[in-house]
Amino acid sequence: MVLSVSAPELLLRADSLDVRYGASRALFDVSLDIPVGQVVALLGPNGAGKSTFARALSGLVPLTSGSIQFNGRDISKMPAHRRQNAGLTYIPEGRGIFPGLSVIDNLKMAARRAGSHSERDAAVERAITLFPILGSRSRQQAGSLSGGEQQMLSLGRALAVEPKLLIADEMSLGLAPIVVETVFQSLEQVRDAGISVLLIEQFVHRALGLASQCVILSRGRVGWSGPAADAGAEVLDRYLGEATSAAASG
Ligand code: ATP
Repeated sequence: MVLSVSAPELLLRADSLDVRYGASRALFDVSLDIPVGQVVALLGPNGAGKSTFARALSGLVPLTSGSIQFNGRDISKMPAHRRQNAGLTYIPEGRGIFPGLSVIDNLKMAARRAGSHSERDAAVERAITLFPILGSRSRQQAGSLSGGEQQMLSLGRALAVEPKLLIADEMSLGLAPIVVETVFQSLEQVRDAGISVLLIEQFVHRALGLASQCVILSRGRVGWSGPAADAGAEVLDRYLGEATSAAASG
């Protein structure tokens, strides 16, 4: 079946992406589709190219070749801030919040692209409705929140501007297992709100539980792709090995 990028069910199509850092090539011919309202898990061992792929979609590294269609438009050469305005939001590894500012100021900064004053207030309110903890901690300095609360804030910031696609890069990194659970519940809420998610995760089984599709990168190439339910033990062992050990199986 040939899927048209203008068909409502497909939000993003990355076609044969190549990316280089100077002389070294990080992505080789990587293709991936993200349907509307679904989660796609992007897995792979350290250095496989997952963050590079996320940065390429977001416009933070240029493509050497290939193309990206998003919401019916070719965004391959669009600057990062315009991709963000078009609804493509990237939460980088490390959260992307301002630790020295209060929770409410972090949300207001994220919402400043929302338009008029009342639209900005509505955007902040939307984030707080989704994550009430942000309302009760609104005056607290973001850097003094717990790891899980900081991730709520980064999600709240991302959702303030009503994205169509959220790229979540290792949001659970360094968090206690119980907090990881909260992060996954939040991502489930995001998906259930109709927002597509590209989920880069070390908690492989948890990610596969949320995702409909899965793509596994191996040394900058797609090693395996298919329905998340088909990514069985043999596939995970072959491409991820240690990454599917008990620590990552949550
Ligand atoms: P991890 O799970 O460890 O974060 P990853 O799958 O996200 O890894 P990338 O960070 O995308 O992998 O790295 C892919 C390759 O590109 C690696 O070989 C890495 O060393 C290289 N690389 C990443 N960023 C840069 C950069 N800014 N300059 C040069 N090489 C880079």
